[in-house]
Amino acid sequence: MDVIDPSTGTQIETYEEHTESDVTEALDRSREAFEEWRTRPIRERERLLASAGEVLRDNKREYAETMTREMGKPITQAVAEVEKCARGCDHYAEHASSYLESDHHPSPAGSTVKTAYEPLGPVLAVMPWNFPFWQVFRFAAPNLTAGNVGLLKHASNVPGCALAIESVFREAGYPEGAFQSLLIPSDLVDDVIADDRVRAVTVTGSGPAGRSIASTAGEQLKKTVLELGGSDPFVVLDDANVAAAAETGAWARNQNGGQSCIAAKRFVVHTDVYDDFLDSFVDEIDSLAVGDPMDEETQVGPQAREGLMEELREQVEDSVAAGATVVTGGDRLDRDGVYYQPTVLTDVPAGCPVDSEETFGPVAAVYEVDDEAEAVSKANDTTFGLGASVWTDDRDRGERVAGRLDAGCVYVNQLVKSDPRVPFGGVKDSGYGRELSEAGIKEFLNRKTVWVE
Ligand code: NAP
Repeated sequence: MDVIDPSTGTQIETYEEHTESDVTEALDRSREAFEEWRTRPIRERERLLASAGEVLRDNKREYAETMTREMGKPITQAVAEVEKCARGCDHYAEHASSYLESDHHPSPAGSTVKTAYEPLGPVLAVMPWNFPFWQVFRFAAPNLTAGNVGLLKHASNVPGCALAIESVFREAGYPEGAFQSLLIPSDLVDDVIADDRVRAVTVTGSGPAGRSIASTAGEQLKKTVLELGGSDPFVVLDDANVAAAAETGAWARNQNGGQSCIAAKRFVVHTDVYDDFLDSFVDEIDSLAVGDPMDEETQVGPQAREGLMEELREQVEDSVAAGATVVTGGDRLDRDGVYYQPTVLTDVPAGCPVDSEETFGPVAAVYEVDDEAEAVSKANDTTFGLGASVWTDDRDRGERVAGRLDAGCVYVNQLVKSDPRVPFGGVKDSGYGRELSEAGIKEFLNRKTVWVE
């Protein structure tokens, strides 16, 4: 696996892929580790997770630099990502045992009836490069603490992150086999899913990856959680604080180089505040510091891979050909590395690529709508349903509009984010199942009824 630094376009590292026999050995270790790991008291698993959080904090700069080198995330955002992973570990270290307490049910006199939450076994996690630490910890922290063991197939451009994460668990004191990274290409994933030792699969990634994995897992009758793409609406109503909406919206679109499933992608703005919003929004976007991701001042780094940036460029070109107007940006930057200009498009015709597909980069589509009903209709006019953000000075109105949006989460006067305290996941083509909070730790468990007379 060749690692190319996207800020320069040069190859910086090569990793050997795992062979078929490496994978077989890893699956054996995984199964053996599970039989012992599931018997450990949950308090002990919580303590080990707290140690993993400490390992993350102790080495955050090193892990952050690995991310930045491999996928181009600005270094300050990479450090923040490692800290967020540590907070995710803290959350489940503190709450896992209460989340997994048995439920007791009404029962005939003299009997006890409960539902116990028991682990399933080795779970395969197929993960993307965009938040190369957070996506993995979001899966691993709850699942390992619940007694499952993890097998990670990470994206092919972040093998260093995959191995670093494996080392976090090793250094924290987890037993061998509790968490392993498989350095394999995606065409070997089906064989791993089909293996009897693997009991369930979670995937965070694009729609095509999700469909393929879910279909293989379905044939094998193995449960899946799918965390897929999004085209989140950012709705600005006529009574919104326009300056705050513009500032947050610019960040919601451009953080992580615009490569976030829950980035605000379609800005749906009431006609009464449209001109004000557009002016402030474009000012905010033009003021973003684009540059070397290792520079502490940089806010927007390169795109992660040349091919992905070319896809984005084509989406914009085809949308402009269909009638969209470029207000700012609109092309790659004339410098080494894979840089795309933070871009704003208006007059975006329905059905053009920027309107109907996910744009995975710093490209915002801004729409003008006449009233609240049209805003809701435009916000829902997508095959995706991950997150949504609504801006209004009236909290009741915000809640009412939130109730009409087809999304897994809606944030009013706030950007969409993932937080260990609340469930995260989508509807429609954004997938199914939930991660984080109590919902996330219960996805891959046997809810076992135990009736004792
Ligand atoms: P991707 O191309 O789908 O890759 C994701 C992972 O799936 C990688 O490990 C990839 O391996 C693997 N993969 C790809 N095709 C596969 C197949 N047919 N069978 C088995 N595995 C396969 O997505 P990406 O470009 O890395 O990530 C961007 C996408 O992820 C966006 O759509 C984004 O919205 C979505 N995402 C969603 C969430 C969420 O929580 N909902 C969070 C982050 C990202 P290789 O690298 O080896 O191809």
